[in-house]
Amino acid sequence: MITGKNYIGNTLSATGNVRYQTFNPIENKANDPVFTEATAAEIDRAAVLARQAFSTFSKLSNRRRSEFLNCIADEIMSLDETLIKMYCAESGLPEGRAIGERGRTIGQLKSFAALVSQGDWVEATIDHGDPNRRPLAKPDLRKMYIPIGPIAVFGASNFPLAYSTAGGDTAAALAAGCPVIVKSHPMHAGTGELVASAVIKAAEKTGMPNGVFSNLNSRGIEVGKQLVSHEFIKGVGFTGSIKGGRALYDIAAQRKEPIPVFAEMGSINPVLMFPKALANRANELAKTYAHSITLGTGQFCTNPGLILGIKGEALQTFSNQLAHEILQIEPGCMLHPNIHHAYEQLKEIASTQRGTVVLANSKDQILANHAHQAVVFVPGEIFLNNPTLHQEVFGPFSLIVACEDVMQLTQIIDNLEGQLTGTIISDDNEIVHYKSAVDALERRVGRLIFNGVPTGVEVCPAMNHGGPYPASTDSRFTAVGIHSIRRWVRPISFQDWPDELLPDVLKENNPLGIIRTVDGRIEVKH
Ligand code: NAP
Repeated sequence: MITGKNYIGNTLSATGNVRYQTFNPIENKANDPVFTEATAAEIDRAAVLARQAFSTFSKLSNRRRSEFLNCIADEIMSLDETLIKMYCAESGLPEGRAIGERGRTIGQLKSFAALVSQGDWVEATIDHGDPNRRPLAKPDLRKMYIPIGPIAVFGASNFPLAYSTAGGDTAAALAAGCPVIVKSHPMHAGTGELVASAVIKAAEKTGMPNGVFSNLNSRGIEVGKQLVSHEFIKGVGFTGSIKGGRALYDIAAQRKEPIPVFAEMGSINPVLMFPKALANRANELAKTYAHSITLGTGQFCTNPGLILGIKGEALQTFSNQLAHEILQIEPGCMLHPNIHHAYEQLKEIASTQRGTVVLANSKDQILANHAHQAVVFVPGEIFLNNPTLHQEVFGPFSLIVACEDVMQLTQIIDNLEGQLTGTIISDDNEIVHYKSAVDALERRVGRLIFNGVPTGVEVCPAMNHGGPYPASTDSRFTAVGIHSIRRWVRPISFQDWPDELLPDVLKENNPLGIIRTVDGRIEVKH
């Protein structure tokens, strides 16, 4: 049952008077539950509880934290149909997507549970001392990762489960030993409350300290701003727009104690289509890309929003074919009227820039909140000199750029902002003629794809989901996969500490049997 209240630690609370509802974009009407925005006092209470919880939660054994994460996964599963129905009602996304995203969320929680139970993730490193070293004795030094403190998590509208309440950021922070306060996304507050109830149930069942998790409702941006400004918050995980991520980054930097903000933001995901590949398989590529551009009604951060080719017949044929294929696809529903409105506006701005040619964009009447997909074409020179065309159009949109030659292609890539992904479409080893462009792409992106599509982010340890700014605020870290835990930890060294006082992972006889680096060698204890 949805209460519309905040979870301040384990307690439901609604002392404020700002109320709001979520919206069903398919039925084009508000959903029934009414949510109450968190007050300044409730935000403060959540932060105080999180700080108190941190002292015990951060010291819990790997086994206990792992149990907690697995239990969250089980409790989410037991929400069953109620969760799936609420997800669909608040997002307009189909049931299959809801089930898939729930599976991904569960998988993420379980992979962090497994990581924590193994224990190696602390990267224990030991350099034994040498009292006989001259001229100075060498101290005994032992290093490991420890959690940084309570984390504020902001999820995006387009992933109500996998990048939200108990999504990747929360799972990674809890795994590291950091309490989490979620700033619930106003567009899926009901989905958020259901998942929060599962996290709280799991916390109670597995004996976690009160305050290890809180969920704050918010209608606007004030709750998030206050949360990031709170002195007890020590890090921020954000998934959303560049505007939102940048605003929070600036607030965090201006605090008396600045804190890290790991913001995963927008991207137009350039795709380089080389001439031989286009000549060999224009039709197949057009079908594949029409599907990728419209997947989830284009509401993916990895949507291929920019296709770069060398001008000529092959690119022209592909462009016409893509326009044809994309118009065969039924327009999909967008997440919310505001997102739909922003899409139509940004599409209009991009389509009316000087020198652009609209290849596909139906004007037919469609259902409310549904989006007409669009393909626009522009010469390289014009694209290069018009930064408006470099901006993300969040929705089923892609811009094709016809470059003069490999030099202009390279120059265009060098002038792009940082991106999550870059894709190469190449046949018959033609890639060797485009080395400068490929090298430029490597400098601009977090993931390079060969002969594929950028949509679809596999969750596994080798995945990097991030990239140079503004794809993310810190390109050294991934937001997806187990290594994303590194965002929520810091290294600490123990110098000449008595063995019995060291954390187990650093004790001389390696009681947990974890993989460590000892005097420069990998130590594996069975
Ligand atoms: P959004 O409007 O930025 O919202 C994300 C969250 O940030 C919301 O909770 C929002 O609160 C909050 N927020 C926004 N501006 C804020 C500000 N100035 N101060 C404080 N809080 C603020 O993004 P969205 O529309 O939900 O998501 C779509 C965007 O996310 C797209 O650009 C997409 O590319 C990106 N995205 C990126 C990734 C990735 O991994 N890189 C994944 C998915 C989506 P309010 O709603 O209350 O304003």
